[in-house]
Amino acid sequence: MNLLEERICKEGKVLNDEILKVDSFINHQVDPYLMKEIGKEFANHFKDKGITKVATIESSGIAPALMTALEMNVPLVIMKKSPSKVLKTDLYGTEVVSFTKGTSYELTIAKSHICEEDHILIIDDFLANGEASTGAIRLIRKANATIAGLGILIEKSFQPGRQKLEEAKIEVYSLARIKSLNGGSIQFIN
Ligand code: 5GP
Repeated sequence: MNLLEERICKEGKVLNDEILKVDSFINHQVDPYLMKEIGKEFANHFKDKGITKVATIESSGIAPALMTALEMNVPLVIMKKSPSKVLKTDLYGTEVVSFTKGTSYELTIAKSHICEEDHILIIDDFLANGEASTGAIRLIRKANATIAGLGILIEKSFQPGRQKLEEAKIEVYSLARIKSLNGGSIQFIN
């Protein structure tokens, strides 16, 4: 998606050879116009897949996932990183290792918001090692729901996430695919 790549070139900050900061339009300040266009793009790409819900992981995936859900006219479900102690028996949960923070957390979803009739599109901001996405997939499968695909804003293709997901037969649609961040320069796969 040219719009997103242009924005990454203009405002993305390469922290090191592995991490890109996009705080001015995705992760901290959010550009609603860009999110709307991203939502249209995902909705168009996945339109014939029989999707019943969009799901994302809090918090950075919420804005693009909400716009996608709006375009597709389906609900958005937000997978939580901190489970409610009170409702724990009513949750599906799985452990996920956080790439950026180097820690792990429990990803949860309430049993009442997902069922085996659901066919779910997962949206997330980044795909790196694929830990967040594979965690989301495990949760959806615990509910016996099915996965329509994964929509990613920024894929770092030099990390193993895409390969893992393709091996698991999950369709990955990434709007910007980064080949390398080496030396502070952002190289895309065209
Ligand atoms: P993964 O689980 O695929 O290794 O990492 C995915 C999650 O880590 C994303 O949801 C995102 O929050 C975070 N992440 C991974 N790489 C980057 C990065 O280069 N920049 C930022 N801002 N977040 C990242």
